[in-house]
Amino acid sequence: MASKILPSDRDVLIIVDLQNDFCPGGRLAVPGGDAVVPAINRLCGSFRHVVLTQDWHPPGHLSFASSHPGRKPFETIDAPYGRQELWPDHCVQDTPGAEFRGDLVVPHAALIVRKGFRREIDSYSAFYENDHTTPTGLAGYLKERGLGRVFLAGLAFDFCVRFSAEDAHRCGFAVVVIEDACRGIDLDGSVAATQRRLAEIGATVIAASEIA
Ligand SMILES: [Zn+2]
Repeated sequence: MASKILPSDRDVLIIVDLQNDFCPGGRLAVPGGDAVVPAINRLCGSFRHVVLTQDWHPPGHLSFASSHPGRKPFETIDAPYGRQELWPDHCVQDTPGAEFRGDLVVPHAALIVRKGFRREIDSYSAFYENDHTTPTGLAGYLKERGLGRVFLAGLAFDFCVRFSAEDAHRCGFAVVVIEDACRGIDLDGSVAATQRRLAEIGATVIAASEIA
């Protein structure tokens, strides 16, 4: 049996969007989204450095289907920066749906990166908004703190985890995706597309049980 990965002081666990609206009962529920919480709580105990991301939209956000008369959730639009999926209203700033899951236990998380807070642009990635040029500042934070390897878990595998992985790679970080600590939405084969893309960028895909 392969030896387990023991996270070092240069490793960071990024927990993506583990918020009420992305879990069953929420406005944009990812199937089984709540089921990853116990595994993520356990993972947090293995990492000295943990960062949380939080989807954090103003009312009337461009990614909301309700902002586009006649359009429905899960359709796409051509935004000025490219294709944008439309979603049900979700993770509106300062609402219960935008709060982290109450059963997520990660008191030592050092940073919360809020994203999607500009009305006119969405942000799937923890590193860049959906124009792929506006930085969130996370890459600079990680580099300044000497963190070189990024482990990703959370929601949703085929959107915010995927784009965070791609951008982490683009920013020069080693990328590890803990796949069974993620859940996907799976729009038009987006989970399979994500698995292909992760292989293309050379991301390591592991199970939570592979972390010591
Ligand atoms: Zn969002």
